[in-house]
Amino acid sequence: MSAPDYYEILGVSRDATKEEIKKAYRKLALKYHPDRNPGDKEAAEKFKLINEAYEVLSDDEKRRNYDLFGTAEATPMDFSGTTFDDFISSIFGDFFSSFFGGGQRQWGRQRTRATQRPRKGPDLRLKLHISFEDSVFGAKKRIKIPNIQICDDCGGTGLKKGRQPSTCPKCKGHGEIQQIRTYGFSRTIYITTCDQCNGSGQIIKKGDRCPTCRGEGKIKQDKFVDIKIPAGVVTGDHVILEGEGFAGEYGGPPGDLYVYFEVEPHPYFKVRGLDVFLEMPISLTQALLGGEFTIPTPRGFRKYTINGPIPNGHQIVLHDEGLHSRRNGFLEKGNLYVTFSIKLPKKLNKKQRALIEELDKELGEYLLKQEKKWQEFIHQHQKNTKK
Ligand SMILES: [Zn+2]
Ligand SMILES: [Zn+2]
Repeated sequence: MSAPDYYEILGVSRDATKEEIKKAYRKLALKYHPDRNPGDKEAAEKFKLINEAYEVLSDDEKRRNYDLFGTAEATPMDFSGTTFDDFISSIFGDFFSSFFGGGQRQWGRQRTRATQRPRKGPDLRLKLHISFEDSVFGAKKRIKIPNIQICDDCGGTGLKKGRQPSTCPKCKGHGEIQQIRTYGFSRTIYITTCDQCNGSGQIIKKGDRCPTCRGEGKIKQDKFVDIKIPAGVVTGDHVILEGEGFAGEYGGPPGDLYVYFEVEPHPYFKVRGLDVFLEMPISLTQALLGGEFTIPTPRGFRKYTINGPIPNGHQIVLHDEGLHSRRNGFLEKGNLYVTFSIKLPKKLNKKQRALIEELDKELGEYLLKQEKKWQEFIHQHQKNTKK
C-alpha cells in the first residue's frame, strides 16, 4: 500500500519530535472529531486520516519503516535477489497503478482530476546490503535499479502516431461519477473518480495505443547506477543521488535516489558505532603462558604481547583500530576491543591426562590456597550448615 503523506496530514516537519507529533495530533483530532462535526463526511475522512497518521508516526518502528519505505509495514528491499517485477509489485504495487496517470489520493479531497502541471518524480529508496569489508575500506558498486522512463516513441502521450484520445464512455469526459442515494428525506450525492479513465475524462482505445508502451506513456527500464560506498559506513547511513529517482511528470525533474546501507553481520567483528568488538579464542596453554598474539583487526593484523597467565574474558583495547569514518570533515576513529576466550580441550588422551595431573600437583592446591576469601567462605559455610 502506498501511504499518504502523514507528516503533511499532521502538519509537522519530517524531523518532528514525538511531543510535537502528539501535540499536532491532539489539536487536529479535537477539531475534526465526529462529535463536533455531525454528518460532515469530509471531517470524518480527515479524522480517520489523522488517526492513521498518528498511529504510524507515534510508533518508532512504524515511523522508521514509513520514512524508509513509505509504508508502516516492514518491507526489506533486498533487490539483489528479486526480479524487477517482484520488486515493483511488492513494494510499489499500488504506487505504480497511481503513477500511470491515476489520481493519487489527496488529503481532504475525495476526487482528484489529473493535473498537467510539471511534477517532480517520486524518490526511490533502496536498501543496499554490503559486506563488513566494504564498510571498512569503502567500495564502488554498480547496482541495477528499476526505472520508469517516458516512452520515446509517443513522447509520453501513449498514443499511436496520428491518433487522438477518445472521450471516456463511462463518465462521458467528466472524470467523475455521481451517484445519488436517498435516505428518507435526505439526498446524498456521492462523487467518485471515474475508475475507467482515472479522472482524466479521456481514454485511449486499444487500436490507438502506442505499441511500445501499450498506451501508458512510460516504459519500465532498468538502469545502472554507480554508487560509491564511503569507508566507515554503518547500518542506517545513506547516500542521496540527486536526479536518479523516477522520471518526473509532465516535464518535471526526476526524483532522487536514496541508498541506505545495511552492513551484513560479520562472524567475528561486531560493530557498535565506530567501535569494533572481537572475541578471540586462545588455547589453555596460551592462556597460562601468555606470549605474542597475532590479532586480526578490521584492516589487517596487529602483533600484541601479553604476559601470562591470561584470565578467561580478559579484554584489551587497541586504540584507533576500529572503524575509520570521515564525518563532517573530520576523520573519526573507533577502537578495537579484544576479549580472550579460553578454549578447553574436548577430550584428553592418557599422556595429556598424566601431564595435567602432574601440573595439578604442582599448581592446583597452591592456586586454591591463594584464594583466601574463598577458603574463609567454605570454612564459614561448613559451620553455618552443620546442624
Ligand atoms: Zn471516465
Ligand atoms: Zn509510447
